[in-house]
Amino acid sequence: MTHATFAFDNSYARDLDGFYVPWRGDVAPAPRLLKLNKELASELGLDPESLPDDEAAVLFSGSQMPEGAAPLAQAYAGHQFGGFSPQLGDGRALLIGEVIDRNGQRRDIHLKGSGRTPFSRGGDGKATIGPVLREYIIGEAMHALRIPTTRALAAVATGEQVLRDTILPGAVLARVASSHIRVGTFQFFAARSEVSRLRQLTLYTIARHDPDLIENGDITGAAVLGFLSRVIDRQAKLVAQWMLTGFIHGVMNTDNMTVSGETIDYGPCAFMDAYDPRTVFSSIDTHGRYAFGNQPAIAQWNLARLAEALLPLIDDNESTAIDQASEAINGFPERFEAAWAAGMRAKMGLESAEEGDATLAADLLASLRASEQAPAVDYTLTFRRLAAVAGGLAEHPGPAGEDGERFRAFLQAYTARLDRDSMPAEQRMRAMLAVNPLYIPRNHKVEEALAAAVAGDLAPFNSLLDVLSDPFTERAGLEAFAEPAPADFGQYRTFCGT
Ligand code: AMP
Ligand code: MG
Repeated sequence: MTHATFAFDNSYARDLDGFYVPWRGDVAPAPRLLKLNKELASELGLDPESLPDDEAAVLFSGSQMPEGAAPLAQAYAGHQFGGFSPQLGDGRALLIGEVIDRNGQRRDIHLKGSGRTPFSRGGDGKATIGPVLREYIIGEAMHALRIPTTRALAAVATGEQVLRDTILPGAVLARVASSHIRVGTFQFFAARSEVSRLRQLTLYTIARHDPDLIENGDITGAAVLGFLSRVIDRQAKLVAQWMLTGFIHGVMNTDNMTVSGETIDYGPCAFMDAYDPRTVFSSIDTHGRYAFGNQPAIAQWNLARLAEALLPLIDDNESTAIDQASEAINGFPERFEAAWAAGMRAKMGLESAEEGDATLAADLLASLRASEQAPAVDYTLTFRRLAAVAGGLAEHPGPAGEDGERFRAFLQAYTARLDRDSMPAEQRMRAMLAVNPLYIPRNHKVEEALAAAVAGDLAPFNSLLDVLSDPFTERAGLEAFAEPAPADFGQYRTFCGT
């Protein structure tokens, strides 16, 4: 690499010897830059204009390591669909290093699809253009929706042919996270009863994400419990945001849950169109474990696995540790509900807080639930329409038929509720439009963009990214991006598609 890239400061490599395997990426035969997130690159201290596309392609495909990088594959375990795998780890990914960004935040730079590692098991270590660009689109959309997330830094086509059901063009995604420490990272060492390593990891993680919990350079049982509580809080808020936005992660295994509270590992994820808590898109989630409506309960289940892993550090007396950890875990629903209710209040344009608000929100959702009889009601657009209603600009059509009755009953209660708030209608409407997105990554638009990209045309991908970068502001000419999928789009299915 002839040009200077990042000012690396690789704490994971430095402090956690034995928690990873130093490794290098495969050399891509013909790396070609598909996309560089220039704004994010600048945030990380890399001047995107000083880096020619061909060098960016070499760099972000993992073909050549920049000066100062310490590429490694992280070890982690995880519960996948409820079953424990003691060894997962970065099987097709590398942490290439960390940088301190312009805001003083430590960020991981990570590659996905960079080739086999000692953790690959039967896999080929590769990724393909479709899923890579999918993660790019959804991650950036989440960021614009103000939902904590890993971010896409670059996408590179490798020029390699990757064997899946068919032969597909290979690609690598470069992404950025506040860390890649997962619930499964703790499980890896806890499952091996490597308590001193577990302690070392926990100290490192607390120093990185919750440094105020450290005393005299060390952690007490109370600090570990405090850390657990912070993770519970971050995840409660995160999953509340998913639920408020209609996002379905699709594969909430414990190895896909960060302790930083960022959304990670976009695989079969997708946004729900018609409101239905039973919605599942992932082709492998046959029992609906990760259905939309199950996400809060699954988050709590995953956090209980983190709590279990941390037990030996919370108290030497196991039953004391279990009592304390259980109390923390049992606090999840309340924290989730509080975050969700606050979010729903904002979505409904409620300025004050009343006890009945959560019930009012639940009534709204119940009235939207797609029944077999009634036509499906779009979740996202419902709130934009509600903003117009609250602003006195329109009548909300609501669902037809019997479901319509429920909706009209809601509307009556809602209008009465609005009258008890002092905010002027116009101001309320503007506040609602600022928190209820108009443009989300609609499944049919995502598929359209990916199909074109795989066929060599990146224009739809770029325009979709552009639309999604400002999800709250209505713009003329973008009507097609706001609409739900046409009826002939059919039942949507997603694949892990690595
Ligand atoms: P995921 O469900 O995509 O988060 O991946 C679960 C585990 O499978 C992780 O340990 C991945 O590194 C590994 N994995 C997924 N796809 C591949 C692949 N193509 N080659 C090697 N390992 C993979
Ligand atoms: Mg994963």
